[in-house]
Amino acid sequence: MNTIDRARHRWMEILPRLGIDRQFLQNKHGPCPLCGGKDRYRFDDKDGSGSYYCHQCGAGVGVILLRKLHGWDFKTACDEIDGIIGTDAAPVAPPPPQKPDQRRAEAIRRAIAQAVSPAVVDACLSRRGISARSPALLGDARCPYFDDDRRLVGHFPAMVAPILGLGSDGFTFLMATAFTAVVIATSRDYLAAEGASPQQADRMHAAFTKSVMLHVTAWTRPYVGAADW
Ligand SMILES: [Zn+2]
Repeated sequence: MNTIDRARHRWMEILPRLGIDRQFLQNKHGPCPLCGGKDRYRFDDKDGSGSYYCHQCGAGVGVILLRKLHGWDFKTACDEIDGIIGTDAAPVAPPPPQKPDQRRAEAIRRAIAQAVSPAVVDACLSRRGISARSPALLGDARCPYFDDDRRLVGHFPAMVAPILGLGSDGFTFLMATAFTAVVIATSRDYLAAEGASPQQADRMHAAFTKSVMLHVTAWTRPYVGAADW
């Protein structure tokens, strides 16, 4: 078994010890450890290969990332990797795949955990003369926005509103939807006012409208019987 086989599914352990900071080991857009930038790179670790993709300097796998970073030839890179994982290690089994529902639940938990800025809600609502507030409305000062192609547009303020419950008559759900409609209709101006360029605001607003509807739907999912979904 060669170094690359032994290194499979172990890149999260290997790369940080060979100069790749953990911030570059996330499957979301950010700066490239090789060529910088802001959001041109992501680490997707397909099949445990340490794979990454950069819009600027191209795609590769874990060993390529190390070779490019340090200017190593293949043998040098393998020797360095062997120095960390040894030469007689058994291959590591891939982690059990997450079910889509678990992934969505995790994404929702993350979005809620990051929304810790009530000032965002205040600014967003008072700017359009809405004085009502709800403890269910959370503010995220740096929420990632994606366009229709799932490319990161940037980080901008956002209101996050989990559906917390659904009355037997669906009343709670209707309230949330009506409120969302107000926010959608006016959020383009808000995003522009928060420093987004007109093009960014247009891309975000289109994606935002879709994502809000999606979120309302997704968050409602756990409260609706499977037969009604
Ligand atoms: Zn790059």
